[in-house]
Amino acid sequence: MAQPRIIIVGGGFGGLAAAKAVRKTPAEVILIDRSNHHLFQPLLYQVATSVLTPAQIATPIRGILRKQKNITVILGEVTGVDKERKCVFVSNADHERVAVPYDYLILASGATHSYFGHNEFEEFAPGLKSVADAVSARNKILQAFEQAEAEEDPGRHRDLLTFILVGAGPTGVEMASALAILVRTTLKSDFRRIDPASARILLVDMAPRVLPPFSEDLSEAAKRRLEKLGVEVRLGHSVDRIDADGITVAGERIPSKTVIWTAGVAPSPAGKWLKVETDRAGRVRVQEDVSVPGHPEIFVVGDTASFEENGKPLPGVAQVAMQQGRYAGRVIHNRITGAPPPGPFSYFDKGNMAVVGKGFAVLQSHKIRVKGFGAWLAWAGIHLQFLATSSLRLTVFLQWVWTYFTGQRGSRLIVNHHGPQPAKAGEEIPSKSAVA
Ligand SMILES: Cc1cc2nc3c(=O)[nH]c(=O)nc-3n(C[C@H](O)[C@H](O)[C@H](O)COP(=O)(O)OP(=O)(O)OC[C@H]3O[C@@H](n4cnc5c(N)ncnc54)[C@H](O)[C@@H]3O)c2cc1C
Repeated sequence: MAQPRIIIVGGGFGGLAAAKAVRKTPAEVILIDRSNHHLFQPLLYQVATSVLTPAQIATPIRGILRKQKNITVILGEVTGVDKERKCVFVSNADHERVAVPYDYLILASGATHSYFGHNEFEEFAPGLKSVADAVSARNKILQAFEQAEAEEDPGRHRDLLTFILVGAGPTGVEMASALAILVRTTLKSDFRRIDPASARILLVDMAPRVLPPFSEDLSEAAKRRLEKLGVEVRLGHSVDRIDADGITVAGERIPSKTVIWTAGVAPSPAGKWLKVETDRAGRVRVQEDVSVPGHPEIFVVGDTASFEENGKPLPGVAQVAMQQGRYAGRVIHNRITGAPPPGPFSYFDKGNMAVVGKGFAVLQSHKIRVKGFGAWLAWAGIHLQFLATSSLRLTVFLQWVWTYFTGQRGSRLIVNHHGPQPAKAGEEIPSKSAVA
């Protein structure tokens, strides 16, 4: 008899945890992801600010799962689900909307940026969600210093060297503090005509305080630390306008050539694929076993799921995705093997942490609230532990030690594609023989 087929969409935190949970299940498992790598998103800001290289935070999914013989990894984009026919539609470079049937489906397709209804901001304020986003932000930041160094008109230096981060959650705070250290230490002696330390770094948010998920005293400590590092923190006002030359906030125009969006996220369109009830943010409302109401064979986990515990939806963080992915895998394993189902899903909250520059972090876990160097050590240890492979743990650890003691960073490359220039009107394209 053919084995049942489990399809997992997404090889992020949730999908990978689900895949590992069914490693001993007598089933054919297919994991589909539109990118070939698992990405450790919490360290994306370190690629954007040149501390780490992309390969230090991203690992090929098929490499991680190479020893799991019951799984096949497919590079493709899922564009829909037919619940009645029990199939997902997958497109890749050669095929459009190929129907792939399943017996069990786990959707772990994550989230994307949300501009809170201002999609016009996206062109001028890119977000930070993928490796490509982080490399593009790094290009933008380093390019601004190069342009300022080459600029004869000192009046333009200010705009070029003003960096604005919109969103003072963990990503905005971590990125702003890493940028502040980049300009005041790493780049300090590299330029002749400009002083990188004169760069202005602004962190803007409509919320009344930074790091809203943390207690007030920790968020106040983080704000003080940011200010000590030279970051201007502007709170309590939403951004009215973002264009190619800067932002407008609370009626004030702030010229800048580098604006980065570190604010909201929106779930993947899994709710639309399934045509099921979603919460206001568009996340699929799941039951206590993270399955979709009326479809016990479909599970939704991580950033794209809405699961309420004690009357509150769980946050969009890696721990929730991993625990839900692992749980969904276990439910399916038990059903296939005839074991009794596990009890309802329950989230074990290990706490929140955010790093604010060199040797300082804030950590909150239930009643424990810690700030300073001890919290930073805990942050570093936990992040290393959750990287996908031992080789990444080692290289990231060595890079952090190196950066900590020397101030130097791993990857300060501006990576642009210099393709052939298109011929201008009236210009002749030289023939091969003419240039040989
Ligand atoms: C910059 C940043 C910093 C963060 N920092 C932290 C932090 O410090 N701590 C923390 O706990 N959380 C943090 N988070 C949140 C955390 O990364 C997410 O909660 C977590 O990744 C969610 O896991 P997931 O499996 O739901 O989605 P993801 O990990 O995003 O994985 C989704 C996967 O699905 C794939 N996919 C999406 N759509 C499709 C499709 N249509 N077809 C095929 N494949 C698809 C994607 O390529 C991706 O591999 C951060 C997020 C960001 C963006």
